[in-house]
Parts: sequence; C-alpha cells; structure tokens
Amino acid sequence: MIYLAVNETYLEHELSDVIRLFYGMEDIVPHEAPEQRIKIEFFAAWNAGQGSFECCVSEQGRTPLKEQVTSPIPAADDIIFKRLMRRSAKLCLYRALKRHTGLSQPWGALTGIRPTKLMRQLMDEGMSFEEAHELLGGPFEVEEEKLSLLTDILRQQQGVWQLGTDDVYDAYIGVPMCATRCLYCSFASVDLSRTRVDVSAYADALQREIREVGGMLNAQGKRVRAVYVGGGTPTSIGRENLQRVLQQAKLTFKGAQEFTVEAGRPDALDDDMLHMLHDMGDLRITINPQTMNGETLSRIGRAHTPEDTVRAMNKAQQLGFDSINMDLILGLPGETRGDMTDTLKKVIDLGADNITVHTLAIKRASRLKEKLDNYPVASADVVEEMVNLSRRMMNEAGLMPYYMYRQKFMTGNFENVGYCRSGKECIYNIDMMEETHNILSIGAGGISKRMFYDRALHTRYAHAKNVADYLTRLDEFIAGNMAFFS
Ligand code: SF4
Repeated sequence: MIYLAVNETYLEHELSDVIRLFYGMEDIVPHEAPEQRIKIEFFAAWNAGQGSFECCVSEQGRTPLKEQVTSPIPAADDIIFKRLMRRSAKLCLYRALKRHTGLSQPWGALTGIRPTKLMRQLMDEGMSFEEAHELLGGPFEVEEEKLSLLTDILRQQQGVWQLGTDDVYDAYIGVPMCATRCLYCSFASVDLSRTRVDVSAYADALQREIREVGGMLNAQGKRVRAVYVGGGTPTSIGRENLQRVLQQAKLTFKGAQEFTVEAGRPDALDDDMLHMLHDMGDLRITINPQTMNGETLSRIGRAHTPEDTVRAMNKAQQLGFDSINMDLILGLPGETRGDMTDTLKKVIDLGADNITVHTLAIKRASRLKEKLDNYPVASADVVEEMVNLSRRMMNEAGLMPYYMYRQKFMTGNFENVGYCRSGKECIYNIDMMEETHNILSIGAGGISKRMFYDRALHTRYAHAKNVADYLTRLDEFIAGNMAFFS
C-alpha cells in the first residue's frame, strides 16, 4: 500500500499514474494506514511564472529521498495552466521514483494513453518537431526506440490525420457480447454462454438508434467520415441480426469513407457470415486470433484453434475484402518467447495488410487478475524483446506503425501498436486515438464524444453499459444522444 499526500488535489490522478508505472497494481491511498509500505509527500506551488515541485519518498528502513523540479509555467486559463502544472509534477515524481527504485521506464515520465497526441500538443504550444522530440527524449526520458516509433507513426498518419470540424463525425456501433469470456478480459461484455440476452431485440434497438440519431445528424447536414462496428464480438448476435444492423448503418451512414466490422474471433466466422459481410460491399474486417498457439487459446478461454484462424483468413482473402486486420497479444499467460515469435511469423505469412500488436494488460476486472498466481506471465524483459522484435518483423514485411495507445497495467508499461501497409490505415483508429473527431456512439456501453477543437477537450454522453438497461431505457438514450449533438 502506498500513501500519497498531495497539497493540490487536481494533481492526484496523474501522480497516481506515475506511481503505477513503478508499483503496478499496489493500492494507493490518500491517508496513513498501518499496512502502508511507502509514503510519498508531494508539494506543488506557482509564483510569478514559475512552478515549483517537491517530492519526498519514505520507505521503512531507508533514508527518505527528496526531488525538486522548477519549470517556467506561464499564467494561462485554468485548463491550460493545470495541464502544464500536471506535466511538470509528473516529471518530478518520476525522477524521485526512478532514484528510489533504480528502475527506468520505456516511456519515461509519460503517462496517459496517447503519446502521439502529446507530441502534437507540444507543437501546437509553439515547439518545432525537433524541440518536442528533444523534450521527450531529454527531461521526460522517453527511450530512443519509443521516440523513433512516435516519429514513424506521425509520418504514417500524414494524409489521413486531420482535425475535424463540428460538421463531421465518426460513428461507432457497439455489440458488447461474446460467445465466452476470455481470461484476460476486463471489458463489460456479456458472456452469452452464461447470460441469456435477446439478441434480436438488441439488433432492433441498434437499428432504431442508428436510424433516428444518425438520421437527425443527416438532416442537420453533418457528414460521417468513418464507421466502426465493434465489440465484444459483433458476429455473436448471429448472421441475420448483424446483417440488418449493417444494412441500416450502410443506409444511414451512406457517405462514409470507411466502414469497418470487427468480425472477431475466428470461431464466430463461418463461410456464411463471411459471405454476408462481403455482400455488404467495401467493408474492412478484423479477425482476432490473439495467438497462433492452440494451448494458449484454450488457456485463455477461447473456443477456436489456430486452424480456424487460417481457414477464416483464407476464405476472407478469397472473397476479396478491402482490408483485413488481425489482432495479436504479446505476453499471454504461459507463452514463451518462442511461442510469440511463432505467432508473429504465422500471422505475417497469412498476409494480413493490417496487424495490431497488443501487449497484455492485467486489468482489475479480469479473471486473470484474480488468478494471477496460477498463470505464469512473461517478464517485462521478455515482453520488451518481443515488442521490439514485432516492430522489426512488421517493418521487414512492409507493415508500418500508424497508431498506438497505452493502457494502465500493461506488462512492462509498453504499448499497443497498429501496423499496416501504406494506404491501408484505418481512419477510425487514427481519429479515435488522436481524438480528432466527434464520435457518435450507438448501443450499450457506447460513449459519444463532442470535441472542442480549439482546446483539445471533449464532452461525453454515455449509454448504459448493461445490455438489459440499454434495452429498457432505449427511448431515453436516443433522446439523450440527439440532445447531445443538437
Ligand atoms: S473477445 Fe474481446 S471482448 Fe470478448 S471476451 Fe474476449 S477479450 Fe473480452
């Protein structure tokens, strides 16, 4: 247990994120407790354009350690001012904990999920690309490998990245249901093997929300840029139900530049499902094997085999989808370096033009977190080797990184990276991760976002996470989503 005392409460959240870089899932509390192992006292002040930060780390049996940072921070409006104060506060605590633990982190003092967005933010604040690069590599101590990843991503996004306007939006349609629950999953997805859901009623509800809210945006003259149907596993509601949802979406969002369906686990993708998806026309799909190791698949609670992945992929290629993405996870329980290399090779050989490489994140709500002792998880060193190897192998196969994000509790504090062949970038993934466009979300768990483009801020409108609540309160969510965009 770690006791964190901060004189400014608005810094608490970011400082806790820095602590988690070093102490993972250990509890952080705002008061003294008998079980507490470490005490961190943090003090921040500002005077005449100068922010001063002081941090003291005490652990029983060790001499307390102090760190100080001062930074020029101009007087600005509250949002910008706090953003700059948080940035320097994190730096101060990072340095203290680095000295205290003797550990450094691949992303240095950077927390938060979007390093590419931060890079752009620094340039918007007046820095050149080189200055922003220098700041991250210097005071923030981001490793060279990660800086070069950031540079490659920014380069690959050129021509696709754009800052939206209030007249343009992306649409997300969510199906938070899966045939079974994977061991590592923390997502609020209904496990259909355990919970009965009227999937036909859910498809009706999605159709209605798409028609009414999407129809309102059309009537307002707003333009949709990209549509993403995600999950859970959208195919888990069955071919006919999914077909009518997609038909409605194609009709309502007919001007979309891009249309992606997360086809999901290979076991949910028989030939009929793939034919139906292909018949929708101009569709990108994702097939998500996570690993090509059969033993790992059964260990993580998946009902498909590597052969199912090969079959689904071959069939999808035969049908000629516009683009096929495959999702992988490095560091799954029980996997060795050899297993991960084998998966990377096999997936590259299958010829996907878009591959997303995730690093395992052990979330609080997952069964893996509860049963961690039963499942050996690769060390951070091995995962780091695999993260670097995956990047080399992707590049050699002609796939370049085009978006990335980080999650809390990721093994070794690494990142998830989407790679693709040039021209096959998923617009929705870039818009979503860089927070450049309004998002209309439809369905249970969906969160619509409206951007304040001049301030890099957004507001949110959330639907109920629970499918039964969403169905019961559908009128309310349709009205709420409409009001949010009015
Ligand atoms: S397929 Fe994805 S959403 Fe569904 S249970 Fe597995 S990890 Fe969770």
